[in-house]
Amino acid sequence: MKVSQMLISTLRENPAEAEIVSHQLLLRAGLIRKSASGIYIYLPLGMRVLEKISAIVREEMNRFGGQELLLPIVQPAELWQETKRWDVYGEEMFRLKDRHNRDFCLGPTHEEIITDLVRREVNSYKQLPLLLYQIQNKYRDEKRPRFGLMRGREFVMKDLYSFDRDQEGLEHSYKKMYQAYTNVFKRCGLDFRVVEADSGAIGGSTTHEFMVLAETGEAAIVYCDECDYAANVEKAEAIPMETEKEPAAEMELVATPDARTIEEVAGYLKVSPKRLIKTLFYRADDEIVAVLLRGDREVNEVKLQNHLDCLQLELADPKQIEEIAESPVGFVGPVGLNVKILADKEIPLLTNAVAGANREGYHYKNVNPGRDFEIDEVADLRQVEAGEPCPKCGAKLNSARGIEVGQIFQLGTKYSEALNAKYTDENGQEQLLVMGCYGIGISRTMAAAIEQNHDENGIIWPITIAPAQVVIVPVSTKEEAQVEAAEKLYRACLNAGLEVILDDRDERAGVKFKDADLIGYPIRVTVGKRTVNEGTVDVKLRHSGEEQAVQLTEATSHLKELVDNLFKQYQAQYEGITA
Ligand code: ATP
Ligand code: MG
Repeated sequence: MKVSQMLISTLRENPAEAEIVSHQLLLRAGLIRKSASGIYIYLPLGMRVLEKISAIVREEMNRFGGQELLLPIVQPAELWQETKRWDVYGEEMFRLKDRHNRDFCLGPTHEEIITDLVRREVNSYKQLPLLLYQIQNKYRDEKRPRFGLMRGREFVMKDLYSFDRDQEGLEHSYKKMYQAYTNVFKRCGLDFRVVEADSGAIGGSTTHEFMVLAETGEAAIVYCDECDYAANVEKAEAIPMETEKEPAAEMELVATPDARTIEEVAGYLKVSPKRLIKTLFYRADDEIVAVLLRGDREVNEVKLQNHLDCLQLELADPKQIEEIAESPVGFVGPVGLNVKILADKEIPLLTNAVAGANREGYHYKNVNPGRDFEIDEVADLRQVEAGEPCPKCGAKLNSARGIEVGQIFQLGTKYSEALNAKYTDENGQEQLLVMGCYGIGISRTMAAAIEQNHDENGIIWPITIAPAQVVIVPVSTKEEAQVEAAEKLYRACLNAGLEVILDDRDERAGVKFKDADLIGYPIRVTVGKRTVNEGTVDVKLRHSGEEQAVQLTEATSHLKELVDNLFKQYQAQYEGITA
């Protein structure tokens, strides 16, 4: 395409609403425009990137046996009622009514629809396994849509669903998708880690997230350099640490006027926060429970919610706590408490600890769990931090932030059971289908790629997902000879199968160079005076800044070779598992 004929509009300044670099550059490079909060227009250049990522995803899904279909966005409430998710999904679901007052929603995900399809179409084991996928908009009325394409309310997702006869089949499908996802993100030029994750509301057990490492990532992960362990902190197992043991001393009530926080109490009593018992109160559905952690630890609400197996979990409000503990919040503790007590695994290891006395202005010293209060349940309830031992090999864990670009789940029979989706096996017996689901955020991947590939001048697209591979810039459109040479090269490149854009606008060269850097084409070719006088063009690589004069007569083959070489950096693995 020629820039003079394209809808390209770049912005010089960072739009005030954009907090992170991908959002800023997506807007500035003219790839997207906002329509409403969390809802975006993809401009032609942005659309090209989206299509490139989609094409890579399609290739990898097909390679591993996926079949593409297209499911409806508008979904009837009845199916969601069958799985009981109509109520569970809550405010994130966009709901609507048709003219007959029937309930529908805009699909936030498609387990219900696809399982309904498969229960109608599949009868026999001979039709299995099936891997069905689509690439389509998803709708989630996110509480905090932000960061441009990172967390939208309308976004593009690839979702694949696997249907197998049994767990063994599911595990094979899961392996295939694991490999397919690894290939996708490699080919998109992303530095990522695969982490063990929590399965949350969607159900099932085994699940992995694909995390692009970036400081702006919303997820915290821990990983080990010595072995392959990596996990979302929501999930990461905490190894209980022993606190120095002391012979149990008699419990003692001590005045701690004005010392309410862990730091204040530890400072006042001159003990390490490790020896303090932090007492938190949660409302789990309709029950209030106390949660005990060492003073230097943070609670992990995902672990807590999983342990309690409740639908709603929130910190109890201070009024309720005061009623239960008969003391202001800063002085509450487990001794003499009348609610269920959950303790993190480190609590039973404490001796002579400090805890609130449930009396304003006082704490207890020498509290010994088991002797001075009973624990109802012990579990891993805390957040893991960098520097703690890896649960697999014991080496020190590192921490990083990640952008979740994909997640794969072994669902098992959660949806087939709810929707009664069965097949008949070789013995004529009816069996539940065993399912997996696998999502990639296509639009989020686009943003994540920018987070990892940019400099102060703009985007640096990996060649595999760039809106075009080459941009040709004639320095002066007033010079007939330059225009002609640029046109000729442009046509030769097109004929050679290169994805090329000709910036034929009547603009100063500086403006065109700036735009080329901002938009982030991997290769820029400058056609100028030297082209006319000496028969050479300047070929510049966006990622390294390397620039080289190339004979015009050899320019096309040179560019082709450059493109091929750049592609080689992003090759995926195709050995081992196949469809
Ligand atoms: P998150 O925890 O970030 O809200 P999720 O776990 O709810 O995401 P999934 O249901 O696993 O998301 O969806 C599959 C993929 O879709 C995610 O890995 C992510 O890449 C993408 N995705 C999810 N929500 C959004 C969103 N609001 N905007 C853009 N992409 C999203
Ligand atoms: Mg997820």
